[in-house]
Amino acid sequence: KSGFISIIGRPNVGKSTFLNRVIGQKIAIMSDKPQTTRNKVQGVLTTDDTQFIFIDTPGIHKPKHKLGDFMMKVAQNTLKEVDVILFMVNAQEGFGRGEEFIIEKFQSVRTPIFLVINKIDQVHPDELLKLIESYKEKYEFSEIIPISALEGNNVETLLGQIKEYI
Ligand code: GDP
Ligand code: MG
Repeated sequence: KSGFISIIGRPNVGKSTFLNRVIGQKIAIMSDKPQTTRNKVQGVLTTDDTQFIFIDTPGIHKPKHKLGDFMMKVAQNTLKEVDVILFMVNAQEGFGRGEEFIIEKFQSVRTPIFLVINKIDQVHPDELLKLIESYKEKYEFSEIIPISALEGNNVETLLGQIKEYI
């Protein structure tokens, strides 16, 4: 089988690190220039039975000007068309305005959304549990998966869960 996956989240949460780990090339960093890649394939991971096609979703941040609004629409359309959305957050940071802004955009989207909590190598397990609880209050995510993109913890589990939805 094959499916389209979009990774969204604020800058520096670890999106490129994750892509580089699963795809094993530097594609993610190359296509990272803001607003030059619309709906572009960032990379493809092919395993024995599954093809994971990662699609870039630029512009799903707080718009600062009119072009921002337009880009938001492009981003939202992309979110509706993919099979799974990975909403990546930093385990070291609490739920903030930036996350709230993105979650608001999820209301009109029926695509399954995974909360991917990255950088768990940097936090105490108790902190992680508290963070998970705070996110559960905000939105009903299809899955909540803590990972370390840098060290690779739980990345295979995440791919296995994605497979269930594509
Ligand atoms: P992006 O802006 O979302 O694409 O984030 P990047 O992938 O560029 O990562 C931003 C910074 O976070 C880099 O310095 C990464 O090395 C670091 N980083 C990414 N994932 C992890 C992780 O799981 N653990 C730790 N400790 N650092 C990470
Ligand atoms: Mg990046």
